[in-house]
Amino acid sequence: MTGTINLTGQLKHYFGFSSFKGEQEAIIRNLLDGNDTFVLMPTGGGKSLCYQLPSLIMEGTAIVVSPLIALMKNQVDVINSLGEETGVAHYLNSSLNKAAIQQVHDDVHSGKTKLLYVAPESLNKEDNLEFFRSFKISFYAVDEAHCISEWGHDFRPEYRNIRPTISKIGDAPVIALTATATDKVRMDIKKSLGIMDAKEFKSSFNRPNLYYEVRQKTKDIDRQIIKFIKQHHGKSGIIYCISRKKVEELAAVLKANDIKAAPYHAGLDSATRSKTQDDFLMERIDVIVATIAFGMGIDKPDVRFVIHYDIPKSLEGYYQETGRAGRDGGEGMCIAFYAYKDLQKLEKFMESKPVAEQDIGKQLLQETAAYAESSVCRRRILLHYFGEEYTKDNCGNCDNCLHPKTQHEGKEQLLIVLKAIMAVKEAFRQDYVVDFIKGRATDDIVSHKHEQLEEFGAGEDMPSKVWNPVIRQGMIAGYIVKDVENYGLLKVTAAGRRYVKNPTDFTYVEDTDFSESAEDEMEDHGVSALDPTLYSMLQDLRKNTARKCNLPAYVIFQDVSLEQMATLYPVTVDELKNIQGVGVGKAKRYGKEFCQLIKTYCEENDIERPEELFVRTVAKDSMTKVKIIGFLDRRMPLDDIASTLNLEFEELLDEIDAIVYSGTKVNIDYFLEDVMDEDQVDDIYEYFRESETDSIDDAVDELGGDYEDNEIRLVRIKFLSEQAN
Ligand code: ADP
Ligand code: MG
Repeated sequence: MTGTINLTGQLKHYFGFSSFKGEQEAIIRNLLDGNDTFVLMPTGGGKSLCYQLPSLIMEGTAIVVSPLIALMKNQVDVINSLGEETGVAHYLNSSLNKAAIQQVHDDVHSGKTKLLYVAPESLNKEDNLEFFRSFKISFYAVDEAHCISEWGHDFRPEYRNIRPTISKIGDAPVIALTATATDKVRMDIKKSLGIMDAKEFKSSFNRPNLYYEVRQKTKDIDRQIIKFIKQHHGKSGIIYCISRKKVEELAAVLKANDIKAAPYHAGLDSATRSKTQDDFLMERIDVIVATIAFGMGIDKPDVRFVIHYDIPKSLEGYYQETGRAGRDGGEGMCIAFYAYKDLQKLEKFMESKPVAEQDIGKQLLQETAAYAESSVCRRRILLHYFGEEYTKDNCGNCDNCLHPKTQHEGKEQLLIVLKAIMAVKEAFRQDYVVDFIKGRATDDIVSHKHEQLEEFGAGEDMPSKVWNPVIRQGMIAGYIVKDVENYGLLKVTAAGRRYVKNPTDFTYVEDTDFSESAEDEMEDHGVSALDPTLYSMLQDLRKNTARKCNLPAYVIFQDVSLEQMATLYPVTVDELKNIQGVGVGKAKRYGKEFCQLIKTYCEENDIERPEELFVRTVAKDSMTKVKIIGFLDRRMPLDDIASTLNLEFEELLDEIDAIVYSGTKVNIDYFLEDVMDEDQVDDIYEYFRESETDSIDDAVDELGGDYEDNEIRLVRIKFLSEQAN
């Protein structure tokens, strides 16, 4: 019957778009025909239109179940702005007052309202039943339908009650929509909504414009991220972190490095959050550092990169989050940092949860780990996860395809795996099967008497790192499946059985090694570049400067500072400020000549300055130091500062030393005047002026007997502040 409706005309009329995207038209016709409909379309594909347009055409009011209150308001505003009248769309949720609810009821009853967004809680509420029964419902739309399944990435228990509530209110066609769903989640959705016969519209999940890369997470991560952002200056990006604390820390580090960044997490008040969103949309800030609370419903088409600072908890979540990059079809770089350690931490977190939930959580996490460690095309793995086969050999847009690893012949290994799975009657998980192949008689294996089987230990002579990649690549090739419904037990497919009878060539690539040792290696590598010639030139310059100023050399610059200069080649006073131990004062006072020397040296010797970035760090314990500086400014006696901060007096001096040695000037004269005699101060001060070193022990040897250690330390603080900073 709908064949006669000119849908394109209606699209143009209501939305001003000239053509449908993807399968929108077919989806809408199916719904108009009164059929249940299931829509799987990636983020940005245009799902909303699939229920918005039919609601405007059909008789009655459509009920749209949607999980987020903020999103609802946004969508309602969009719809209402399309026409002259308001009230075409409304929402119903816990944020409305009595008068607003009455307005909704009136508009629905008068027939004005075509779309009613409801939160699942409001839909299921007994008190609302009578209202929902009091008007004609054109259809039910369930947006973000993956929320139904615990196997998705955003499970909401209220979504489970949608079908029972619909049955109480009255039947009408149902359209379910989601951007992510594995086979398992898709089944869950259909079952839970009672739409087993729904026609499915599944767009490809391939996003060819997205570039996927996984990097080893090292201690160097902040620097890597800053470098990346600077290389892509002015582009919009999102960085996901797992904890609020990390979000705050990283945002602070980025800001300290002149990047327009802001933190976003659910712990911030809503005014701050919406301001941050606005700033991002309006490009007043470039980078949002966020927990996964950020992003649903953010429709910024030109997000150019999405970085995962921590490993995501599931591949569905990962796909969804990376999906926010490049929605306009342009560049979208998706970079995840992975460390096996993080994975273990996440697993630990889960231990407090109910066993069943833990089990699901761990399996999802293992999938992400497999994705990260694998050397197979990332696109292929992701699409495989969503039940889609990617057939191109090389996608040309992920790290593994751009830098392919050597292929190994794995016929023998695959046969061992397949036979092992069958030997244990396809009733065990991957880690069990691997133990079995390696011939490890674990308690579990012994309790099943599997160590007595002929296949036990069939692969004990081969390196143990081959088994996981062979199993996973065997899955991608369709020989093995993981039965997610059943605790992730490994099964052999029909193709796998044929393979055992008639084996053919099978190649696999080894995983990338993300273990600790690799991490250490990378770090050592970074520091070995000190230029000895330059270093000795800098030492000479320091000596001369010291002589001129009539000061000990260490007051000018400490050794570590010179070492860094001879490694990083700073050539401007600005760059110099980022060298350890060099504050603004010191850089200005002594820096010029040093920079000049480095610059000339680089030019004369054709030295390419390392692209190495000057990363300003925000020290972990910087809060204490910031407080101390504040107290000193207010001339609070040092003993009071110590007790306020719950520090021993010596600990406070340690902190102040660190402040002074990092190049910040402090003034403690007001305190010295109170606790020491002026002549005593002069004595010690003179000692430091003459001394070759700043060592307290040497000073005590020289001055001891007359002065307390702490007195010497206090004067050293004064001396360094005045002369060095
Ligand atoms: P999804 O919910 O699938 O992530 P949306 O429904 O939010 O995607 O739509 C994404 C964007 O695409 C919106 O800005 C929307 O206005 C736009 N859009 C949807 N359908 C069309 C169309 N047929 N022509 C042009 N733009 C469209
Ligand atoms: Mg949507």
